[in-house]
Amino acid sequence: MQALTNRRKEVSRKPMTFIESLYIPAILKGMGITFRHIFTKNPTIRYPEQKRPFSPVFRGLHVLNRDEAGRERCTACGLCAVACPAEAITMEAAERVPGEESKYREEKYAAKYEINMLRCIFCGLCEDACPKDAIYLSETVTPANYTRKGFIYGKEDLLIPNRNVELEEYAEAIGESRRKY
Ligand code: SF4
Ligand code: SF4
Repeated sequence: MQALTNRRKEVSRKPMTFIESLYIPAILKGMGITFRHIFTKNPTIRYPEQKRPFSPVFRGLHVLNRDEAGRERCTACGLCAVACPAEAITMEAAERVPGEESKYREEKYAAKYEINMLRCIFCGLCEDACPKDAIYLSETVTPANYTRKGFIYGKEDLLIPNRNVELEEYAEAIGESRRKY
C-alpha cells in the first residue's frame, strides 16, 4: 500500500531478550524522563486566578456596539446574518418612533437580535460585513452552560453597556485590545 507520509515505522515483533523481560532498563528510562521534567518550568497555570494572554487576533463573544452618545448602532440591515456561514444570527427589525432618537442611531433598529453560540464558529465574518460598526467579537470567552437554550444570546446579552452611564461594565466588555471602540 502506498504511504501518504514518510512517518510510517516498521514495528519489530521479535521476542524479548532476558534483560528486556525484566523491564528494568525500560523502568529506569521512564524514571529518567520523569526526573528530567522535575526541573523544568511547570506549564500549568492556576486558572481562573491566572489567565494566559490571548492572541491579538482572538475572537470571542459578540458585542452589539453603541455610538459615542450611547445610541444603538445596529440598523437591522441583516448583512451580518447573510454573511454568517453558520446561519447563527437572526433578528427582527423595527421602526424608530419620534422621541427614540437618543436610543437608536438609525431610523430602523433591531428589536430582536439573537446569536446561537452553538452554531457560531467565531469566524468574524459578521463583524467584517457590518457597515455600521455595530457588531464585533470581544476578548470574552463564551461561558459554559448546562442547557442548549443558555447558548442562545439575545440582544440584552449582547448589547454593550452604555459608556456614558456604566463605565466599569463598558471597560470590561470591550477588553484590553479593543480600546478604539
Ligand atoms: S462569528 Fe462567524 S459564525 Fe459566528 S455569528 Fe459571526 S459570522 Fe456567524
Ligand atoms: S449588526 Fe451590522 S450588519 Fe448586522 S444587522 Fe446590525 S447593522 Fe446590519
